[in-house]
Amino acid sequence: MKMRNFLSQFFVGRYGAYGTDQMNKFILIIAVIFLVLSYITPFSMLYWVAFALLGYAYFRLFSKNIPKRYHENESYMKIQNKVTGFFKNFTSNIEQRKAYHIYKCPNCAQKIRIPRGKGNIVVRCPKCHTEFQKRS
Ligand SMILES: [Zn+2]
Repeated sequence: MKMRNFLSQFFVGRYGAYGTDQMNKFILIIAVIFLVLSYITPFSMLYWVAFALLGYAYFRLFSKNIPKRYHENESYMKIQNKVTGFFKNFTSNIEQRKAYHIYKCPNCAQKIRIPRGKGNIVVRCPKCHTEFQKRS
């Protein structure tokens, strides 16, 4: 039997038959990072963590419990979306800080966003209507 046939036979009914998923890709990336770290840092036991992660990735590929692996990946994607959403918010906050000053109203401590580079301006608090002068 040819190797290719053997492999496609082997993957019949297994999760890996549909190709690898996002969760496995992430596990593999982490495993490679740990493998590199185990060589360049004194933490050589990271090698075993990498080894275990690789084992888990292969276990998922060869698993016949396809719905369970599918749901695992779904929950992983939810976490991944939250993390990437957080970083998107974080960078857009930094972008905003470049374009705006955030001032606090001296009367009620309401935060007010003022565009930068307008010189001396009078700011009117939208909450308590106190007016105060600021340099933007
Ligand atoms: Zn105010």
